[in-house]
Amino acid sequence: MKKTIDDLAVRGGEPAFSEILHVGRPNIADRKRLLERMNDILDRRWLTNGGIYVQEFERKIAHMIGVKHCIAMCNGTMALEIAIRALGLTGEVIIPSFTFIATAHALQWQEIAPVFCDIDPEIFTIDPDKIEQMITPKTTGIIGVHVWGRVCDTDALTNIAKDYNLRLLFDAAHAFACSHKGQMIGGFGDAEIFSFHATKFFNTFEGGAVATNNDELAAKIRLMKNFGFSGKDNVIHIGTNGKMTEISAAMGLSSLESLDEFIAVNYQNYKHYQRELNDIPGVTLVSYDENEASNYQYIVLVIDENVTGISRDRLVDILHAENVIARRYFYPGCHQMEPYRSYFPHAGLLLPRTEQLVKKVMSLPTGTTIGESEIAEICCILRIAVADRSKI
Ligand SMILES: *Cc1c(COP(=O)(O)O)cnc(C)c1O
Repeated sequence: MKKTIDDLAVRGGEPAFSEILHVGRPNIADRKRLLERMNDILDRRWLTNGGIYVQEFERKIAHMIGVKHCIAMCNGTMALEIAIRALGLTGEVIIPSFTFIATAHALQWQEIAPVFCDIDPEIFTIDPDKIEQMITPKTTGIIGVHVWGRVCDTDALTNIAKDYNLRLLFDAAHAFACSHKGQMIGGFGDAEIFSFHATKFFNTFEGGAVATNNDELAAKIRLMKNFGFSGKDNVIHIGTNGKMTEISAAMGLSSLESLDEFIAVNYQNYKHYQRELNDIPGVTLVSYDENEASNYQYIVLVIDENVTGISRDRLVDILHAENVIARRYFYPGCHQMEPYRSYFPHAGLLLPRTEQLVKKVMSLPTGTTIGESEIAEICCILRIAVADRSKI
């Protein structure tokens, strides 16, 4: 463990870790069980197109989160694109800028303009109080994002959507296995989408899903993700190819069997970080409501430079030198990325909280490949850096 500022790698010391620690290193479930399933898939020679593993995966997820329909997809972005299209969104859709770029791209890809809304100062999800002023005659929907698994104000968003006759979709890519007011994420709004990308705590290599209680919408999404096929030679709708493969579903079923274990490890890591960080002034760990189900998959720090006296970016560099690849999730905000930066050069004027937050956040490694000793070391580096900041 490092003792003084001179032990830090940026001052010439040895890096704390010989192996690189990443944010979003995949969790891998029981390998034997996964390989059995994979062998079975190869034996059956049914590799995709709604095979038994995809069907079982959809059934188990729908049951677990208590929704009528789960439609598995090849990735979360495709799930978003198809849900957006199936809901008939056009014109303008209001979303937070503080999200992964896929939320905006899934709209713009279909020539729908994302209209960026600022965030709530506490939860960091889209601020319902700022939405009404962004509604125009072209607005057709709202997409809330449950950032880091912290859930949007679903009641307020539902009311606005009802009052203005807008569709309401949730990007729940971070919020699989989370709950809100005791109800599992998946059943809010018209639909919710998940990502099961390798970097999410629960993965299917690549994958995603749409969850909804709306029968008609579910039927339409099922058609759209398979070229509009209804039966063998009968195409009844425009569609694309959003199908999940059997191998991905096999990974998903195995990951489901380890879901509780993944969450328990994330929770333990979160508690270790909480304990280790509480004596570093100006460094706040983003918290989760322990009365709700949470996946605890993101360890996020908010750095208040006025108190730490050292910037978020400098702390990220210091950690990188130690082989801890901390990430600035999300930075610099969708409105500062192309093509949105060129389309809406003044979007930032309406996003003061987003512009503040993107300068302050950093994500640290967690998941099944790290534990108490690594966390103690990472926090020790931060503690030394903040305490002796004048020397670095
Ligand atoms: C990961 C992610 C997506 C995209 O999911 P993919 O499965 O990678 O396509 C969308 N939105 C958010 C908020 C994400 O974090």
